[in-house]
This record gives sequence, structure tokens and C-alpha cells, in this order.
Amino acid sequence: MTAELSRQAFVRGALGVAAAAVLGSCASPPAAPGSGTPTPSPSPSGSGPPRWADLGDLAVLPSDPTYGSAKTVFNTRFSGSTPVAVVICRSVADVQRALAFAAANDVQVTSRSGGHSYVGASTASGTMVLDLRRLGGPITYDAAAATATVPAAADIDSVQRTLSPLGRSIPTGSCPSVGLAGLALGGGLGADARSHGLTCDAMTSATVVLPGGEVVTASAAEDADLFWALRGGGANWGVVTSFTFTTYPTTDRDVVTLAFDGDATAEVLVGWHRWLTAADHGVWGMVNVTVGPDPTRCSVVLATPPGAGPSLADDVVAAIGAPEISRTIRTFDRPAFVAYFGGGPDAVRPRAFVAGTDVVSQMTPVTAAALVAATSAWPRDLVPATMVVESLGGAIQDVAPDATAFPWRRHAASVQWYVETPTTPLVDAAAGWLTAAHGTLGDHSAGGYVNYLEQSSPAQRYFDSNLVRLRTLRQRYDPGRLMWSSFDW
Ligand SMILES: Cc1cc2nc3c(=O)[nH]c(=O)nc-3n(C[C@H](O)[C@H](O)[C@H](O)COP(=O)(O)OP(=O)(O)OC[C@H]3O[C@@H](n4cnc5c(N)ncnc54)[C@H](O)[C@@H]3O)c2cc1C
Repeated sequence: MTAELSRQAFVRGALGVAAAAVLGSCASPPAAPGSGTPTPSPSPSGSGPPRWADLGDLAVLPSDPTYGSAKTVFNTRFSGSTPVAVVICRSVADVQRALAFAAANDVQVTSRSGGHSYVGASTASGTMVLDLRRLGGPITYDAAAATATVPAAADIDSVQRTLSPLGRSIPTGSCPSVGLAGLALGGGLGADARSHGLTCDAMTSATVVLPGGEVVTASAAEDADLFWALRGGGANWGVVTSFTFTTYPTTDRDVVTLAFDGDATAEVLVGWHRWLTAADHGVWGMVNVTVGPDPTRCSVVLATPPGAGPSLADDVVAAIGAPEISRTIRTFDRPAFVAYFGGGPDAVRPRAFVAGTDVVSQMTPVTAAALVAATSAWPRDLVPATMVVESLGGAIQDVAPDATAFPWRRHAASVQWYVETPTTPLVDAAAGWLTAAHGTLGDHSAGGYVNYLEQSSPAQRYFDSNLVRLRTLRQRYDPGRLMWSSFDW
């Protein structure tokens, strides 16, 4: 492995695992709706099966030849999902019509934007999926306000490619095909987070079709409670049709990759975090640890102001106190920076994986030792597994924990556990690894990041002290529970 792997390249390329069967690209447009046979389940309240013909040509039904591709999402573990229909929405009116139909027929609704939910939430069995990828409209930039307005299902690549030539950006994650909707609704961690915050921190408004069909534009001035929930409170508060984000000017950046011996992982975690906490907010960093058949690998990746990489690399190595094995430093302009962290063409290839999340409050030596123990528990003879530790410092902490629904504003780092799982035994092994990791971390973990959601885990774990307000708002905005949720709340 070179020392110069980006975040996605690290997580994916470094794993070196054969992919699961490719069932379609998450970046592809949705399948055209057809005219399949009505699906009997679930029944409408009291009056026989839904009359899908009432939705005209919007619905793709299980009997339709395009149903399989219409319900396909990034994580191919969910290829066997059985939504009752996929409704292709091309306009806000289509969304309203679909929601009214769902309410009349007692069918729960889930929205589909980029299709990257870790738990297949945008193709959940038994739901009516509202596919928003044809709910077009351009990505527009308002130079006077320095804001960008983005259709909800736009992906990261489209947004960054549109803004880059204008010398502007918004904070996003790295995978090119992740949807802005899911990313922003859960928070949005990326390489600009220490300098400019989460994706949701840049949100100035969101246009939403509420479960009752009303269209509102939530902002700090209007529907402020909903606006609060949309920033980190997870998915499906209604159907978001577009977002407006404040933008910032872009600069070139250095990317530093330092490789260390796997035995030094605990020292790396503690030294990296202590150093980064004191560093300028213009410096971002993460630590990747991969365990598997090959020797354990531990890397620090930094993004720094241009020209600062060499001296900051020296500083972080001194803070860690263990020798580096290799060092790579490159200076990127904005498009190259986004492309580098995007991980190349393979990053958008659908695949089967199991991933999980913890949020650590502090990065003490004891916490670091627990993270090492948890990672090392992976049965390394199987395939590689990765732990990705990302800073929750800098501008993320400029916002109070209760100012938005994202609660992790006073915590040290997000920890992501990731295994590619083309076979069922690997799925079981990965699930066991996650459970064991949570147990090993114990009180060192405060909860999890909702965008790295795990199946069958409680809402409390993701929203912490903000859960009480979220429950109240859910009752206000969706008393009939039309919008599907993976949480039992
Ligand atoms: C390869 C990969 C890389 C990732 N990288 C990062 C990263 O760098 N940083 C980070 O923070 N996260 C990252 N994530 C996690 C990602 O942010 C979440 O999985 C996110 O929810 C995906 O959003 P989506 O629109 O692509 O997915 P979808 O599956 O379409 O949606 C996710 C959830 O949001 C709901 N939803 C979708 N659209 C709407 C809408 N318009 N209105 C209301 N609800 C809606 C869905 O019903 C679902 O519950 C990554 C995920 C993957 C698979």
C-alpha cells in the first residue's frame, strides 16, 4: 500500500476485497417507471389494496421489469429489499401526490436521494420509496448572497464540480455519489469540517414537503423547529426537495499522509488528537487503521494550508513520538483535492458492506487502548477491516450541542468500523465485530453518528440529549407516522 491513499481509497482500496456483484451504479439515473401489476401489501385502511393506477405512470411496481433496478441502492446487501413501489418524482407536485396517496392507503414512505444509507433505509421493505433523482433543477449559485441552492438528490460530485470553477465550496463528505440530502440531514463530516463545520452547518434553508402535503421552506426565520431537526436529526421529517447552503472561497491545500507501524496505533491516536486539538482550524486530520491478513497498518492523513504540509508533518510526528514509516505530501488545487478524497472511479461502484459507529468523548491513552483492542478483535484471517477515526474538533465545536439536532459538538472523534462483506459468513463476522467493539469501548463511547447508522440500534445512541426535542417534533410534524424510520420512536 502506498502512503498516499485518500479516505475512500484507504477504506476501499486498502481493503483489497473482491466486490460483490454490481447491480447498477448509484450514480445512474433511476429506471423508467412502468405499468406493473398492483402489489397487494400493505392494505389500505379498510378498503382493499392500493389503487396504484391512481398514481398514473409514477409508480414502479414489483411486477415491473425495471423494479429491480429502481430499488437498487449502493449497499448491495439490500438488493433483496421489497418496497411496495418505487415512485419516480419529477416535481414537487409529484411528491405531494405520492404522499397523499400513501396517507390514503396507509403505506409508509421513505425517500431516496443518493441511496447510500448504511442500513438500506431508502429501499426499506414494505415502504413506498420516493425516488427524488429526477426531481431536477440546476445547482445554482447566488453570487450576491454567496449561497448555493441544490436539488435534494444532487450528489457530492455534482455540487463540488459546479461550485469549483466559481472558486466556492460547501463542506461535504468525500464519496462522489453520496446524496446531499442524506449527508446534510445527518450532519455531514468531511475534510473541510474543522475549518467550515458540517454540511448541515452550512444549510441556510430547506424546502420540504411535509407529510400532510404542505410545502414549507424551513430556515432560522421560518419553521425554525423543523430547520433545527433537519440539521443532524436524521432522515424523513418530510421530503426535502432542495437545500440552500452558504458557501466559502476555496484554496489550494496540501495533503499529508504518514504511515506508522500498526503497533504504534495507540500512540498515534493520542498524539494526533492532542496535536490537532491545538492546531489551527485550517488543518484537518483523520487516522485509518486496517487489520487483516497483512500486517496492521496505521496512517494519519492531514489536509493543511498550501505549503504548510512539510512543517506540520514534522510537528505531528513529534507529537506522536513514534517513527513514521513513510511520508507523502502533495499540493492540490480544489478540483484535484475533491477528486483525491473522492477515491477514483471505483468509489461509486456498489458493494456489500457492514459498517458501524462510535463517538468518543476524549482520546485518552485508555480510550486509544480500547480502540486498538476493539480493532484487533477482527478475525484478521478473513478479509481486511478498517477503523476510521475523524476529528470532531475545530468549527464543529463552534456550534452549541443543542443549536442543531447534531449532538456531538463537545466530543473528540467519530469512529467508523467498516468491512466489505460479499458473503453471509462475513456479514455475521462483521456484525459480531461491531457488537464486540461497542462492548470493548463501553463508557468511552458516547453514542454513534447517525450517517453511519447501524441496524436495530436505538435513537438515543445517535441523538443523545437532543432526542427529547426530536421526539416532540416528530409528533408535531408527522403524528400519523407516514414517514418510515429505522428507529422505534
Ligand atoms: C461510500 C460512502 C461514503 C460515505 N462518506 C461519508 C462522508 O465522507 N461523510 C459523511 O458524513 N457521511 C458519509 N457517508 C454516509 C452518508 O452520509 C449517509 O449514508 C447518508 O445518509 C447518505 O445519503 P444519501 O442521500 O446518499 O442516501 P439515501 O439512502 O438516499 O438516504 C439516506 C437517508 O436519508 C433519507 N432521505 C434521502 N433523501 C431525502 C430527502 N430528500 N428528504 C428526506 N429524507 C431523505 C432516506 O430515506 C434515508 O433514510 C458515506 C456513505 C457511503 C456509503
